Amino acid sequence: MGIKHVRFQCHHCGHCCTDVICCPTPFDVCQIVKATHLSPQKFLKFIEPEEIEGVNKSDPTWLKINNKKYLMTLKRTKKGCFFRDTKKGICKIYEHRPLLCRLFPFKLRQTRTGKVHSFSLHKDVGCPKHRDGIVFTDKLKNIWEEDQKHQEDYQDLVAFFNSQGKKGKKPFDFIGLFVVIINNKKNKSNNP
Ligand code: SF4
Ligand code: SF4
Repeated sequence: MGIKHVRFQCHHCGHCCTDVICCPTPFDVCQIVKATHLSPQKFLKFIEPEEIEGVNKSDPTWLKINNKKYLMTLKRTKKGCFFRDTKKGICKIYEHRPLLCRLFPFKLRQTRTGKVHSFSLHKDVGCPKHRDGIVFTDKLKNIWEEDQKHQEDYQDLVAFFNSQGKKGKKPFDFIGLFVVIINNKKNKSNNP
């Protein structure tokens, strides 16, 4: 348990980018779009409850459409996350990776009033948890607090999406609530 620091060093085994499904927030998605100019359809996938473990069925980030539930995740290939460079074994969007990727494999312990108390290493996430380094918790605290704000915004967007009774609604319509895709070709032809 670390109040000021946690003994940990990543040995780049790749487990978290190959075996763990990454669930970005809309903020994370916007950061990736800005950095890569990729359309969200290229790198996102909406999955159903049976495709993921460890996410509570009552989690407020499930999109609900016609009695089905969908969760926004980063697309995966047979070799892991869409953004993993399989040859080099690194993240292709490292500087712009989701906040949850930055927090892995740390687990937060909160005070009774919901503030940050300390961090430890998650027991059941498959990380080998090498202890030959030091990570200071003030950095983790900043990331966690930033992610919390985005999680709250995410939940508000999901609640709004779920309340919309639009006919023919699809999971990818959710992205339209926070990313505007401009069709440049169409715009150019429309503008003299
Ligand atoms: S976005 Fe990068 S750090 Fe996060 S799971 Fe994918 S490859 Fe790993
Ligand atoms: S599972 Fe742990 S050691 Fe392996 S790459 Fe991820 S953080 Fe590093």
